Amino acid sequence: MVTTFKGYAALNKGEKLQSWQYEPKPLGRNDIEIKVTHNGLCHTDLHMRDDDWNVSTFPLVAGHEVVGEITKLGEDVTNLQIGDRVGVGWISNSCRRCDACLRGEENICRQGYTGLIVGNYGGFADKLRVNADFTYKLPDALDSASAAPLLCAGITVYSPLRTYIKHPGSRVGVIGIGGLGHLAIKFARSMGAEVTAFSTSPSKETEAKEFGAHHFCNWNDAETGDYDLLLYTGSAEIDWTKALGLLGNDGVFCLVGLPVSTLNIPLLALVFGQKKIAGSAVGGRRFMTEMLEFAAINQIKPMVETMPITQINEAMDKVAANQARYRIVLLSE
Ligand code: NAP
Ligand code: ZN
Repeated sequence: MVTTFKGYAALNKGEKLQSWQYEPKPLGRNDIEIKVTHNGLCHTDLHMRDDDWNVSTFPLVAGHEVVGEITKLGEDVTNLQIGDRVGVGWISNSCRRCDACLRGEENICRQGYTGLIVGNYGGFADKLRVNADFTYKLPDALDSASAAPLLCAGITVYSPLRTYIKHPGSRVGVIGIGGLGHLAIKFARSMGAEVTAFSTSPSKETEAKEFGAHHFCNWNDAETGDYDLLLYTGSAEIDWTKALGLLGNDGVFCLVGLPVSTLNIPLLALVFGQKKIAGSAVGGRRFMTEMLEFAAINQIKPMVETMPITQINEAMDKVAANQARYRIVLLSE
């Protein structure tokens, strides 16, 4: 008997999503099958739909902040049970043998990790099959709608904040207050930093302060600064030289937002200020597990707007127009 999953796919680059049925890959010995209940909508799903990074394959079933309930277990899966509530993020496998994987940093696996929706079908469907080792049992203290955005947006900001905040009182600037950025404010505040939110949307000031920002600055008015860490979480190109000018000596400018762009860096400021420019992508299993515990204990939850998955195209339009506040979570039917 042929198994069929029902999803929402972009059949070609840049097209609206439509209902689409497909045959999933066979359930491997180490796989689980999940009945999907929630999907966070990440801006990356829009980049993938539009093939901004030249890695998309079509039909594309995106969705990589997935929460659901286990309905089937591969024969070798022993650490999970049918009925468990689990989450799945951007990384769905890695080599497991290189030094990075052995440290739990599968996001920088030397062989290159497998992306859940790069050549595979993701969470915008009724069911998902995925390797059990890259599935996370969710803490009871996190409801499913809150947990979903943590699986990509949460880990993506937690990992560099955890790495680069060296001491309480560190001056951290978060540039771009969207899905990633608003969680970055919450995590950075919880880690003891003095947090400034930089935004092109003055209307976000009140909420940014409610999320924990000590200061709010309109990006267009930003001039100089002495930040220890600047985390770029936006989806559109900004003036990178201006960002570097806000960094104090020995500071780190870390980019996680991924507009298609290149950096043109004035070397004098970089060298004499001993400044560092870094990139960071999601996070490995070590930080993912730690982040979920940290979020549960400190009650760090995204501000979520729920929509039925049937309105997935409207939801994507809202994200593209910078109108989501601050993460849309799509509810399955
Ligand atoms: P989002 O919710 O859409 O937020 C992006 C923010 O960028 C907006 O809220 C806005 O903040 C700012 N922005 C400035 N100019 C914009 C414009 N012209 N159009 C839209 N937004 C503009 O996106 P997200 O889901 O947080 O993702 C942000 C970026 O991170 C995306 O490029 C995504 O692909 C990338 N990402 C990277 C990783 C990784 O592993 N490195 C993981 C997940 C996502 P203000 O209104 O405050 O200016
Ligand atoms: Zn994402």
